[in-house]
Amino acid sequence: MKILVTGGAGFIGSAVCRHLINDTEHSVVNLDKLTYAATLGSVASLEGSPRYRFVKADILDRALVLDLMMAEGVDAVMHLAAESHVDRSIDGPGDFIQTNIVGTYELLEAARAYWSQLPPARKETFRFHHISTDEVYGELPLEGGLFTEETPYAPSSPYSASKASSDHLAVAWHHTYKLPVVLSNCSNNYGPFHFPEKLIPLVILNGLEGKRLPVYGRGENVRDWLFVEDHARALALVVTQGEPGRSYNIGGRNERSNLTVVETICDTLDRLAPSADGRPRRELIDFVSDRPGHDLRYAIDATRIERELGWRAQETFDTGLERTVRWYLDNEAWWRPLREGRYGGERLGGAVAA
Ligand code: NAD
Repeated sequence: MKILVTGGAGFIGSAVCRHLINDTEHSVVNLDKLTYAATLGSVASLEGSPRYRFVKADILDRALVLDLMMAEGVDAVMHLAAESHVDRSIDGPGDFIQTNIVGTYELLEAARAYWSQLPPARKETFRFHHISTDEVYGELPLEGGLFTEETPYAPSSPYSASKASSDHLAVAWHHTYKLPVVLSNCSNNYGPFHFPEKLIPLVILNGLEGKRLPVYGRGENVRDWLFVEDHARALALVVTQGEPGRSYNIGGRNERSNLTVVETICDTLDRLAPSADGRPRRELIDFVSDRPGHDLRYAIDATRIERELGWRAQETFDTGLERTVRWYLDNEAWWRPLREGRYGGERLGGAVAA
């Protein structure tokens, strides 16, 4: 298949591109606007491949995207382009409405125009895979419960509301126009090439540099963590084997409170890269006032994708976190320019939450 990946210079999109090129026979056209969150270094290793092409473009530009689909003759779209940082959506929701909602609408319309002129056999096999988050479901109580594909949507933040809107659009394009849409909703990802404004890389790098580790509230909020390469494998299964009109929840069954995550990173760093003065990193933890509207707990029931598509997460939280910490220790050339503010990350010194 030739797959148009949107947002392929971002964290998860780049893992998808690397997986498709390195581990499968598929071809990739990576379309990305290159916002502050993009790093071409995450896909630099693919540049020599004849099955890989990068195009700098905005998903809001429907005519350009349609021309690209026609010229490339794509067999599927994997739509990951988005504004993705919850704190930024609270400070300035406008870009989230534009890219996540209007951008998804424009992309769906480009895909519909492209798909409708395909010959019947290719129309049948074409897929539009919309990639989304478990945050669309709102929050769970600390005591129990899991998000299934039937859980009603109840988004809380401008980010999750914009993603919920885009999910509804994608599903509506399937029901109304019969566009072969598949949808997936995933829990929090972590791993190599994660932009350092997000919880796990921020704590690793602040800890490495002996800076404070501010944690929202008491750090009690629970997230269900998935190693990004496990997510990329799941997405490749959904786009190739998922049933049109169906959604798939993806999660690692790795629930951790934010405080436990931060403490585990501190202990891993102490083991792999002890601080110069020998002081434990946990002493750097600093509790600060909570994020407004902070969801208490997210947790995914991944039974459907496990049973129907045979997917299983390969990494536990401990093995995935160790790989991640080692990656940041070995790849300063990737993260140092981002840490030094060459992306406008005013939140870098702020509180950390997932
Ligand atoms: P990211 O912020 O790292 O990357 C987003 C990419 O999209 C960037 O490369 C950016 O340049 C690109 N982009 C933004 N606006 C664009 C536009 N208008 N046109 C073209 N490209 C544009 O995000 P991520 O963490 O990799 O998330 C990817 C997708 O997965 C998002 O849709 C997100 O909602 C979803 N998701 C993320 C997580 C997570 O834990 N990070 C979990 C579940 C789902």
